[in-house]
Amino acid sequence: MSSNQYCPSLTHYERLKTLEVNIGSVALGNALPIRIQSMTTTNTMDTKATIAQSLRLIESGCDYVRITAPSISDAKNLLPIKLSIRKAGYDTPLIADIHFTPNAAMTAARIVEKVRVNPGNFIDKKRFEHIEYTDLAYEEELEKLRLKFIPLIHICKEYGTAMRIGTNHGSLSDRIMSRYGDTPLGMVESAMEFVKICEEEGYKQIVLSMKSSNPQIMVQAYRLLVHRMMQNGPVYPLHLGVTEAGEGDDGRIKSSVGIGALLEDGLGDTIRVSLTEEPEKEVPVAQKLVARYRKRKRHEIDGKIPALSINPFSYQRRKSRKVLNIGGEQVPVVVADFSLKNKISKYDLESIGYSFDTLNDKWNIADATADYIFSNHQIIDFESAPGLGIICSANIWAENHEPENHFPFFNIYQFLSATKKHSKMNVVYATLPDLNKELIKQLDADKTVVLLIDTFHEHGMAEQRALFYQLEAAQSQIPVITGRAYGDLNTEQFQVDSSVDLGSLLLDGFGDGIFIAAENCGTDELVNRTAFGILQATRCRISKTEFISCPSCGRTLFDLQQTTAAIRAKTNHLKGLKIGIMGCIVNGPGEMADADFGYVGSGPGKVTLYKGKEIVERNIDSASALNHLIRLIKTNGMWSEPGHDA
Ligand code: SF4
Repeated sequence: MSSNQYCPSLTHYERLKTLEVNIGSVALGNALPIRIQSMTTTNTMDTKATIAQSLRLIESGCDYVRITAPSISDAKNLLPIKLSIRKAGYDTPLIADIHFTPNAAMTAARIVEKVRVNPGNFIDKKRFEHIEYTDLAYEEELEKLRLKFIPLIHICKEYGTAMRIGTNHGSLSDRIMSRYGDTPLGMVESAMEFVKICEEEGYKQIVLSMKSSNPQIMVQAYRLLVHRMMQNGPVYPLHLGVTEAGEGDDGRIKSSVGIGALLEDGLGDTIRVSLTEEPEKEVPVAQKLVARYRKRKRHEIDGKIPALSINPFSYQRRKSRKVLNIGGEQVPVVVADFSLKNKISKYDLESIGYSFDTLNDKWNIADATADYIFSNHQIIDFESAPGLGIICSANIWAENHEPENHFPFFNIYQFLSATKKHSKMNVVYATLPDLNKELIKQLDADKTVVLLIDTFHEHGMAEQRALFYQLEAAQSQIPVITGRAYGDLNTEQFQVDSSVDLGSLLLDGFGDGIFIAAENCGTDELVNRTAFGILQATRCRISKTEFISCPSCGRTLFDLQQTTAAIRAKTNHLKGLKIGIMGCIVNGPGEMADADFGYVGSGPGKVTLYKGKEIVERNIDSASALNHLIRLIKTNGMWSEPGHDA
C-alpha cells in the first residue's frame, strides 16, 4: 500500500470494501448499495408530527430515518414513534441522534436500530478552553470516557443495535483540541478513541463519520480516516455528510462537492445531504448523488498513470504559471459557454454578471461575473464589458485580424503548427488521451499556453485528475481550465453533477479555472451561479457571503428557514463573510466551526450572538436580533452598504 493510499483506486471506480453492519432490516457497508438517510426536524416529544414526518421521509426514499433524542424523555418517546411506523407497514430502521446525554443513548439503544454518538460531546462538556494535558491527565480523561461509554456498548451488543461514531469538526473535545488542534487528524483521533474502546469490548457494529461545514476539511478527514483503517484494519462503513451546508443552490452545491468527492473515489456507504429546508427535499439530492454510481463500471483509464503526486490529506494548490489573469496565485477564473448563441449581444452578458446601463452608457458589474466567454465561431463586435475576455476559434481570430480582447482557441496539433498565435495567451484544448510527455514538453515551452481540458470518460473526474498527474510528472506549470459538458439535465441534477465533477478536482488543488458547457440544463444565469457556487464551496474563490446554517432538528428554537432568509436578505452583499445560523446553543456554537459571526437560538424567542467562538451578546429578543447582528458586524468593521465592496 502506498504511503498515502486512501481509496481502492484513483484510476477506476471501485467501492471500498468495509465490514458489514446490521442496522435492523437494512444492512450497510461491504459494497452493498449506498444507503440514503435524513433526519426529522420536529420536536421528538411531538409524537404525531414526528411520525408523520418520518413516514414522509420513508415514502420519499430514505433507507434510514434519524430522530434527535436530546433527553431521556425524548429517547423513551422513540418507542411509540417506532411502533406507529411499523404499524404503518414500514420496517425502515430508526436512528437516535445523541449529544451530551449518555443516559438518553442507553435508553434509545434499547428501542431503535442504531444510535449516533458524537465523540466531541458524549462525555466532555465543551469549554472552548486550551488545556495542557500531561500524558497522565490525558489517560485519566480517557478512563472517564471508558467508564461512561462501555455501558452503552454493552446495551448495543445485547440489543443488536448499531452505532455511528460521528465526529464533527466544530465540536471536538477540549482534550482532542489541545493535542491535535482543530484539524482532520484531530477528527480522526477523536473517533478512534471511541473505536478502540468498542473493539476492546468486542463490538464492531460501527459506522463512522467525519463531518464539517468546510468540504475541504471534511474530505481530508474522511481520507485520513480510511487511510488509517486500511493500514490497521478493520475498515468500518462510512456515513458521509457536509454539516450546516445551508439552503437552495448553496446547500446543494456544497453537499455535492464534499460528498461527491468521496463517492468518486469509492468511499461512502450511506449519505445524508443536510439542507436548511424541509428534510424531504434532501432525499432527491441524495438520490441524484447516489444514482451516479449505480451503473458506473470498472472502466480503467487508458495509459500509464503516474503515481499520486499530491498529499491527499491537506490542501495545496498545484503550482502553475501566470498567464494574464489565469494561473499562478490568482483565483480560478470562470469561462462561460456562449458558443451555442446565434448572435451574441451585450444584453446576453447580463446572465453572467455584466449589465449594460443604456441611459448612462456604462457597464454595471456584479460580484459573480464570468471572466471569459467562449464564443467559438463568433467575434464580439460591440464594445464589451471591461475585464471580460473572449475565447474564439483560432481560425476566426486570425481571419478577423486578431481583434482586441479576443484569444485564440486551438487543438494541440493546430497550435503546434500555427503560424499566427496570440502574443499573450493561447488556449489549447486537450483530453488525457491527446497528451503524452513529449507534447506536454512542447506546450510547456510556450509560456502563453493555457490548457482547456475535457473528458469523455465515464469516470471523467478520475481521467481529468490523471491528466493533472501527467502534468505534475512532467513538471509542467501550464495553467489549466477544467471543462465539463452536460446536456438535458434538470437543475438539481446539473448542479449535483457539475459540483461533483469540478469540485472534486478543485479540492485536490487542481485547476486555474472552470468551464461548464450546459445545453438544455437551465439558463446561462444558473450555469454562471453554479460555477461561482462551486468555487465558493471549495473555498477557491469567495464571491459572496457564506451562510453556515444548520438543517434544524427537534432542538431548534426558531424557524430556521425564515430566519436564514431574513439574515440573507440583509447580509447577502458582504462578500467573504461567514455567518453561522444555528437552531440551538447546545450544538450550534460547535457546529458553526469557522464562522465569523454566529446567530444562535438560546431559548424560546431568544438569540445569542457570537463573534467567532466568543459570545458577545446573550439572550437578545429574537425580534431585534438581526439588527444587533448588523450592529455587531459594523462594530467589527466588516460591514459595507449594499452596492459597495466590503
Ligand atoms: S445546531 Fe441545529 S441541527 Fe444541530 S442540534 Fe442544534 S438545532 Fe439541531
